[in-house]
Amino acid sequence: MNPRRPTHLVSIGKVRIGAAAPIVVQSMTNTDTGDVEATAAQVQDLARAGSELVRITVNDDAAAAAVPRIRERLDAQGVTVPLVGDFHFNGHKLLKDHPACAPSLGKLRINPGNVGRGSKRDPQFAEMIEIACRHAKPVRIGVNWGSLDQDLLTRLMDENSRSAAPKAAIEVMREAIVVSALESARRAEELGLPADHIVISAKVSGVQDLIAVYRNLAARCRYPLHLGLTEAGMGSKGIVASTAAMGVLLQEGIGDTIRVSLTPEPGGDRTREVIVAQEILQTMGLRAFTPMVIACPGCGRTTSTYFQELAQKIQGYLRQRMPEWRQQRVGVAEMTVAVMGCVVNGPGESKHANIGISLPGTGERPVAPVYEDGQKTVTLKGERIAEEFQELVERYVERSYREKA
Ligand code: SF4
Repeated sequence: MNPRRPTHLVSIGKVRIGAAAPIVVQSMTNTDTGDVEATAAQVQDLARAGSELVRITVNDDAAAAAVPRIRERLDAQGVTVPLVGDFHFNGHKLLKDHPACAPSLGKLRINPGNVGRGSKRDPQFAEMIEIACRHAKPVRIGVNWGSLDQDLLTRLMDENSRSAAPKAAIEVMREAIVVSALESARRAEELGLPADHIVISAKVSGVQDLIAVYRNLAARCRYPLHLGLTEAGMGSKGIVASTAAMGVLLQEGIGDTIRVSLTPEPGGDRTREVIVAQEILQTMGLRAFTPMVIACPGCGRTTSTYFQELAQKIQGYLRQRMPEWRQQRVGVAEMTVAVMGCVVNGPGESKHANIGISLPGTGERPVAPVYEDGQKTVTLKGERIAEEFQELVERYVERSYREKA
């Protein structure tokens, strides 16, 4: 794995992005921001799931007016997660008309393709940067190829068509995304925003495009980079595409904060995107958030659903216990728990984990040996294997991870 590329360090409240800071997980609400109660509740859910920054759209007067009230409500509930305001088209006006909005935000996100057209673009961008400077707020220059600056794209396309060796249109498009981000960041610095108040993102929806664009950005600037595939999609497609793209970049040391943009299933849980982002970082060995369950896929030796149910129960139990363990004990997030379906690989995998159980496969004796730190400690049997194993995990945590001072 490559070391992280060197960048400036950006501070958003207590959260740090870039340099040697841990890679930050962020998310975005999908409530109407004007609905203070619903938005504060979803921010709280996302923060409890582990989102370290939460973005909310600020799209109209009601949303801009709601931002300070959302912040107050979160503070009253002890939720300190910084809010990022997402501005498009009318951000300059909303920030001016609602002076309490900017101070309540930890960071502003500005999309240079959506700050205004033609002669209005530069002054409107400048107005937003000046407000960010006045309140010492960092800014994410967030380019998205769905709203790429069309003047810039046309200029680069024209230059390309006149060149002796024209590039493919996709190459010019990728270059336009990178140039839009870098030129906007440079302009923000000229307007007085310090370099260590700037984060850049350049979101596209294709895996190969994302990799190419971010490699290029990483080589050309020292701003921290926010990684994410836009419009990643629903369910496994969104997870796979995000993981494939971000995995390559993170492995190369590129990416200082990430968001997994999943389309929730109707009625689905918004916190899923936070869990997936954490799982990407944890499975790559970049951060530890919650104990990992190592479970075999099951096969013809596990014909009952008991084994899947136990693996799911244990995973849910670890997630539910983690907020308390995190407060009380050092290092629990690094724990590994093996839940294996039979004796073929069960004991071996259990020995490698901190604690592991090997359930009886079809036709095997109905006993489940448990291993702790590589040693067989007990054999469970009967109806309460799941409950007894959870008790053993609880005792293992108490014994193995010291209490915080
Ligand atoms: S450990 Fe046993 S049950 Fe699990 S996949 Fe391997 S052989 Fe099948």
